[in-house]
Amino acid sequence: MAQHYDLIVIGGGSGGLSAAERAARYGVRCALIEAGRLGGTCVNVGCVPKKVMWYAANLAHALDDAPGYGFRLDYFGFDWHKLKIARDHFVRDINEWYLGYLAEAGVTLIRGFARFTDAHTLEVGSEHYSADHIIIATGGRPQIPELPGAEFGITSDGFFALEACPPRVAIAGSGYIAVELAGMLHALGAEVTLLVRGDQVLRPFDAMLREQLMERLREDGITVLTRTQIRAVARLANGTLGLHCDGQNSILYAETLLWAIGRDPNTEALNLATTGVATTSSGSIPTDPYQNTNISGIYAIGDVTEHFHLTPVAIAAGRRLADRLFGQQPERRLPYENIASVVFSHPPIGTVGLTEDEARRQHGDAVRIYQTRFRPMYHAFTVRQPQTVMKLICVGAEEKIVGCHLIGAGADEILQGFAVAVRMGATKRDFDDTVAIHPTSAEELVTMR
Ligand SMILES: Cc1cc2nc3c(=O)[nH]c(=O)nc-3n(C[C@H](O)[C@H](O)[C@H](O)COP(=O)(O)OP(=O)(O)OC[C@H]3O[C@@H](n4cnc5c(N)ncnc54)[C@H](O)[C@@H]3O)c2cc1C
Repeated sequence: MAQHYDLIVIGGGSGGLSAAERAARYGVRCALIEAGRLGGTCVNVGCVPKKVMWYAANLAHALDDAPGYGFRLDYFGFDWHKLKIARDHFVRDINEWYLGYLAEAGVTLIRGFARFTDAHTLEVGSEHYSADHIIIATGGRPQIPELPGAEFGITSDGFFALEACPPRVAIAGSGYIAVELAGMLHALGAEVTLLVRGDQVLRPFDAMLREQLMERLREDGITVLTRTQIRAVARLANGTLGLHCDGQNSILYAETLLWAIGRDPNTEALNLATTGVATTSSGSIPTDPYQNTNISGIYAIGDVTEHFHLTPVAIAAGRRLADRLFGQQPERRLPYENIASVVFSHPPIGTVGLTEDEARRQHGDAVRIYQTRFRPMYHAFTVRQPQTVMKLICVGAEEKIVGCHLIGAGADEILQGFAVAVRMGATKRDFDDTVAIHPTSAEELVTMR
């Protein structure tokens, strides 16, 4: 006999944890099934350990900059292993914190791998659980291409398992994970080659950001090979990998190959066929704007869907779904417009709203662009001289701001407040009428001409 719940959530990552906790707070009988470590991708092999490595990379840059400010330093190198131990410890603490989070909310945690036996029943090992409502929040996993020797490469998951900084790393990919890992590995001492299939990195981003980041990567000393695809990988007798490519360099050598070519949704092992839940050709679950799948009582949130694959998006979708189902808020949902995001590259990128291309496609000649480029004051004294570039995309006579794109030191922290303004429908005049904070980089956003 199956144990019955009002709600079962499959997946204890960002989305699943948030949905379950919010639902339980409304007093519903709720269980969450998790096959791995609580916290999912973000906590274990995503945002959290990545941000630790980004901070370390920033420190490496700061050490390079310090002599310009008069510091005389003796540098004894970077202990990757030591940082990894501390980082793993930090992540384990978060895993444990989530145990309390679920217990305190009254969510039953079921450990194991869930698969459907029908639209209302799940099997975990030899146990069966049924529910009136089931939320699929199973996230995704990194892709490995099908080509000879691909298994010699690691993915972002493997990056977080590295015990030392590899001397030479080839990273295949052009998305945000590829450029972020390239920047961190380079700053922490690796010789990095980024292999990009097309002409540029960060394809869906505003052209200004793509071009600026390509310049910065190259200026920093990262080799970026465009129109380059790996066709086969071989391990040589000395352990080095030989990468056979069909681009600018026919063969490349590296100790570590990192695939950052995209992620697949975790749906294939769920036995969705038994439920009738539709999936796309890539395996993700389409939903309507309320996170409903095509089968009544089954919902999907987070990376398993086609929407923005970001932690706060999964969290917001999960909480709002619980509000709608159990909190008597029938219209509650997450609108997927004006979602801000940051790329933790060096320097970081912050972006919200439409790109210039999107704005011109939607609004034609009504689009007006404001852009500024400058060297931040911090770099007046450093050998490194990365420029900051900021772009505002405005529409119509009132110059409503529909896009805000930044690359430069501090962009990661600057953007959040401006994202609120853009979401509220701010105009260029609102920005101009805001008194600047001086001396900052952010003030350039309210003083643009
Ligand atoms: C390297 C990297 C860096 C990232 N950096 C950022 C960042 O800086 N900012 C940001 O916002 N986002 C970032 N992301 C994306 C972010 O991690 C995801 O968008 C977010 O974790 C998605 O949450 P989710 O709940 O949909 O899925 P997940 O967090 O992936 O959770 C899914 C959970 O479901 C479990 N599961 C899967 N199948 C089953 C099953 N059948 N039964 C039981 N359990 C199952 C998995 O074990 C997993 O714990 C990053 C991702 C990566 C890979």
